[in-house]
Parts: sequence; C-alpha cells; structure tokens
Amino acid sequence: MKVTFWGVRGSLPNPLSPDQVRSKIAAVVQRIRPSDLESARTRELFLSGLPPALFGTVGGNTTCLEVRTDDGNIIILDGGTGLRDLGVSLEKKRDPLREFSLFFTHFHWDHLQGIPFFGPAWVKGNLLVFASPFPSVERIIREQMKPPYFPVTMDAMPATLRFVYLRGESVRIGGAEVRWKRMNHPGGSFAYKITENNKSVIFATDSEVTDREFQQREENRSFFEAADILILDSQYTLEESFTKFDYGHTSYTMAVNLAVEWKVKMLVLFHHEPRYDDRKLFGIRRSAQWHGEQLGSRGLEILTAQEGLELTP
Ligand SMILES: [Zn+2]
Ligand SMILES: [Zn+2]
Repeated sequence: MKVTFWGVRGSLPNPLSPDQVRSKIAAVVQRIRPSDLESARTRELFLSGLPPALFGTVGGNTTCLEVRTDDGNIIILDGGTGLRDLGVSLEKKRDPLREFSLFFTHFHWDHLQGIPFFGPAWVKGNLLVFASPFPSVERIIREQMKPPYFPVTMDAMPATLRFVYLRGESVRIGGAEVRWKRMNHPGGSFAYKITENNKSVIFATDSEVTDREFQQREENRSFFEAADILILDSQYTLEESFTKFDYGHTSYTMAVNLAVEWKVKMLVLFHHEPRYDDRKLFGIRRSAQWHGEQLGSRGLEILTAQEGLELTP
C-alpha cells in the first residue's frame, strides 16, 4: 500500500502569497557562500542542506489523499482541491485505471471542492464510487454541484457515478479492508482505517480528539492500537486549541498524546491551519517530536503532511 498526499490544508485553499515567495528566495540567497556555487555538486549540496520551510512548501490544496493498494486499486480519501492534481497526475501517467473509490469523511467545503475538476469524472467508461457513512451521501454530493454554484450538474459527467451509503463497520476493496469510526466534529465526521497485508493507515482529519479516544475500550483499541501510520487532524497549537474549544479540530500536542497512547508507529500532522505558514508548520513538527520524546515515546516518527509526500507503511 502506498499513500500520496495531494492536499493537506484545512478549512480553505492556501497558496503561497507573492510576499512569502519573495521572503523564501531572499532567505536562500542570504545563505549562499561563493564556495556553494563552484560546481553542480556544491550547488546540489547547498540546496539539499536548506530547511524544508525554505526549499519547499506544504502546499496550498485542501484535503485529498490517494491510497494505492498492493493489488492495484485506488482509494481516494476526500475530494478537496487536491483531487484536481491527482486527476492530472493520472492523466500524465496514462494510468489505465478505470474504477475510482472516493471515501468522504464529511462534506465541509474543503473536502469537496475538487470534485468538479477531477479529470476521470469526465471520461466515458470510468466508474466513480462516492462512499460515506452519511445516509444522504448522494443528495449531499449532487446538490453541491449545480447552478448557481457551478455551471453544470453532475449529470453532465460522462463517467458512471455510483453512490454508496456505508452501513455496518467495514467494506472490502480488493484485498484491502476499509473501516470507519465516528469522530467529534461539528455535524460529525468519520475516520477511515485501511488495512492490507497486515499494514494499516488511519486517516482522521477534522476530528477534535477528546478523552473518548483515549478510553481503553475495544472499539478504540481495535481501531488505533499499533497502527503503522496515523494521519491526524492537528490544526492548532495547544494555546490556540484552548480558545477554539468545540471547533472540531485537535492540537498537535493532543495528536502526539493519542499516537503515544496507542503506540502508533508514525504520526502525520494534517489539516494545517490557514494562518500558519511553512515556517510555523515545520516548527510545529519539531515541537511535536520533542513533546513525544518527553512522553517517553520510543520510535514514534512524526511528519508534517505536505503535497507530494509518499508513504509506504
Ligand atoms: Zn476540513
Ligand atoms: Zn470539517
């Protein structure tokens, strides 16, 4: 199984501003010494030594993840603006895939806006399955794409569209199992856990972690315990989370606490706050790692979600 991140921002798209681009370039230029420019090798060394906040960005798109299963199926988690870039990449690679399973955590704007721009929806012969544990999944998805909000309805899409209300606890996509769990978020949201060949990835965006997720109950244990990768909402700093109680998002401190509690192997900080820039976000990762070490976590790896990041559990 391989996970690719196409959109990692929360609440709304957040492209770099001209000022942010200028200050990144200025900071890089100030670090250059004449010896860094001597050859192609020294230039490469210089670039590879730059901090990620200067030589890169987490990206500006909202929530969308691609999961490729070992048996070649594609599972798409949420349809934020990153979904458009996923479609473009499939087209560029001339990917022969014709079936696309899209699982939705919930239907806030930042998780839907890529749907009209997902290339495979506009190809006859493709099958798109929209799935969610919300019973009105079809009505909700269809009604967000119609005039005057968008020029055409989903009926204009040449692909075959299927809508699935997820009942029970899990479904299978080929050899992979997809499970879900209700999380705390205004209007509700669902976390997904994908397990294949004894490897597991949990995607829990738009979730305000509370003591409920820490309770030593079978429901929590079987979902969180010893997961290989936990991609978790960590929109706020701890101080900010105190002023935004009940907004439906988690602080990175609480995210680390949960990962340590359930002995998760890798935590990916996700659904980045629009007001936080790259520097702040990569700084948060360092603070999160430090916090984890204070809790005595041995071997918990913590990453900042960025566009283009690929992970194999
Ligand atoms: Zn969101
Ligand atoms: Zn939300």
